[in-house]
Amino acid sequence: MTDTPVAAPPAPTSAAPAAKPAAKAKVEAPPFREFPTITALRPDAMVGSTPYVASAAHNEALGFPGTLADGWEQKAVAKMGELLGKYRSLKVYLDSCVHCGACTDKCHYFIGTGDPKNMPVARQDLMRSVYRRYYTLPGKLFPKLVGARDMTRDVLDDWFRYYNQCSECRRCSVFCPYGIDTAEITMAAKEIMDSVGVGHKYVNEIMGKVHKIGNNLGLPGPALENTLEGLEEDVLEDTGAAVKYPLDVKGAEVLLVTPSADFFAEPHVDSLIGYGKVFHAAGISWTLSSKASEAGNFGMFIGSYEQMRKVALRVREAALELGVKRIVVGECGHAWRVAYSFWNTLTGVGAGAGVGDPFAIELQKQLDPNYKQPAHICEVTWDLIQAGRLKFDKAANDHRIVTFHDSCNVARGSRMGDYAGGQFDIPRHIIRAVANHYVDMSPDTTHERTFCCGGGGGLLSDELMDIRVKGALPRMEALKRTVDQNGVNFMAMICAICKAQFTKVLPYYGFKMSMIGGVHQLVSTAIVLGNEQ
Ligand code: SF4
Ligand code: SF4
Repeated sequence: MTDTPVAAPPAPTSAAPAAKPAAKAKVEAPPFREFPTITALRPDAMVGSTPYVASAAHNEALGFPGTLADGWEQKAVAKMGELLGKYRSLKVYLDSCVHCGACTDKCHYFIGTGDPKNMPVARQDLMRSVYRRYYTLPGKLFPKLVGARDMTRDVLDDWFRYYNQCSECRRCSVFCPYGIDTAEITMAAKEIMDSVGVGHKYVNEIMGKVHKIGNNLGLPGPALENTLEGLEEDVLEDTGAAVKYPLDVKGAEVLLVTPSADFFAEPHVDSLIGYGKVFHAAGISWTLSSKASEAGNFGMFIGSYEQMRKVALRVREAALELGVKRIVVGECGHAWRVAYSFWNTLTGVGAGAGVGDPFAIELQKQLDPNYKQPAHICEVTWDLIQAGRLKFDKAANDHRIVTFHDSCNVARGSRMGDYAGGQFDIPRHIIRAVANHYVDMSPDTTHERTFCCGGGGGLLSDELMDIRVKGALPRMEALKRTVDQNGVNFMAMICAICKAQFTKVLPYYGFKMSMIGGVHQLVSTAIVLGNEQ
């Protein structure tokens, strides 16, 4: 069964960024489709999906203009020119598309909505048309002939709607014969919009909290301390083992940087409990940091190198202050992508020492070269399993038939281990080491072809619930097949955004929100703790 086309699409409005979005719009999950499916076109189906616009205070706190000002059109075009000069890839992507159509049906938001502007190539064309007008000769001379458009308020409104319907998941780039990465175009569009005072409220507000308090949630140090003490009591009661969840311990071997949702949200906290048990069982001293109490880095979502670096530098400062030897990242997809792919040049954590940056050089001297820096918590756990340093009672997970959801930023934006594909194998190896029943979902929906949860890229805000639910359709369909065919009752993952998104959208598709959790939740269930100190 396929969606039916909408007979009379709603007319676009021309002032979406300034207008209030349809926050109370009815949220509906599309019906499950039979295989094979061709998504029916529903022009303008998602024209009403717009995030809240960031307030002047939120924008200015990040150094962006508060609101749209006179002359913003020229400023936006100039910013595009700056980015084209800075990022060669952006120019190549805008120049090289041949409109072959291979990417059109690969985006979960197009599949879930049928809105043609959610085809990756159409999303790119929102920027490509403006690029052609100002930065190509044919576009300057014969704009209509080459589909070039002026930068106008209507164009900006379309950017704000549809670039905020892209989770920057990179799935479309896997299928593009030229490797065009729509996510990079989306990031550039968001950077341009922020530079003229049009930002996404949820994202910019969160970054302000990280700069001010240290985490996305605005959770102050004392609250964090209380939470961790509570966890120690709970684990002692459950297991009889005095597992510690230390904060700001100078001289600890490992600094663990994890998404702040791990500190209190369900099911995230169960993974934090698991990390602590792993370190306890292996006898590794570790600490969290009240200064770097957030692994997430929303600077990446808005394409801002400066914001990304500012957030990342908190981690470096904390590592230097605490004198740790290793930096480990918890279960967070985009945080791991930033750490794996960008920390090296942002902060000097990793192989490079940062040319002429004394703090990066100092950190390189401090970190232990015998370990991968930074390391993912899954790499740490898998190394310990292979070394025989952890014991498990796999039967403790026998009530679960487990599948694994590859998170986009891990699958297509980073790696684990020392070989290509380690990011797919290592979490699965861990699950198989701690649970007896494991089934993969369809291969066209896993590994590098995995589907986004529907809430990535900074789209996790309530006013975007409709696009989030619709964008989750392909993952929900793959899950349903394993539920029906294999009796799967637990979907494991290693991303805080995926966990938060799925707990909200699963009920729309008839699943219980309790059927998802972290890989280290499974580890936590099965790990056998002795009398370690
Ligand atoms: S697959 Fe690549 S070249 Fe083909 S339409 Fe999509 S972006 Fe353009
Ligand atoms: S959401 Fe993912 S698949 Fe869709 S356009 Fe963006 S990067 Fe491509």
